[in-house]
Amino acid sequence: MAAHIEDLPQFVYHPDPLKTGSVRASDEVCVCCLRQRGYIYSGPVFAVEELTGPLCPWCVADGTAADRFEADFSDAYLAPAGIGTEVVSTITNRTPGFSGWQQERWLFHCGDGAAFLGVVGARELEGDHTTLESLRQELSESRWPAEQVDQYLASLDRDGQPTAYLFECRSCRTHLAYSDFT
Ligand SMILES: [Zn+2]
Ligand SMILES: [Zn+2]
Repeated sequence: MAAHIEDLPQFVYHPDPLKTGSVRASDEVCVCCLRQRGYIYSGPVFAVEELTGPLCPWCVADGTAADRFEADFSDAYLAPAGIGTEVVSTITNRTPGFSGWQQERWLFHCGDGAAFLGVVGARELEGDHTTLESLRQELSESRWPAEQVDQYLASLDRDGQPTAYLFECRSCRTHLAYSDFT
């Protein structure tokens, strides 16, 4: 019988990987523990050698998958100054990653990694002024005219592109996001 969601390991930086799609129900066998545990990790794996099958979320959570396969699940090495190496390694080696159109980026706030909430589009962001403002700020570097920024934000699409990646600060609960496209 498949495990229930309560049985899944807790990922403080990726609290609901079933919802984000980085973990899914499956009867596939984990290549690390060789057990069929009802769920597999379905996000990106950056490993020296190609894995011949999926990993389970438990082997991600306890670091055995990262150790055995020298695997990273996201690239959090670009953490801002003041972020502890333990935080970076927890995000990189023991937290499910997510897939973006470009190289994924983890976001940080209040001296800690933020929690990844999922991929969102304009519809999901309606009324979320904090997130829209953080996306607008990021785009200000592009020097686009205001009209183009508005058009871009309105075209964000959870299932298409451009897409936004939503995070929440674990301390102050501020929403943060960035966006990308191919
Ligand atoms: Zn496993
Ligand atoms: Zn914060």
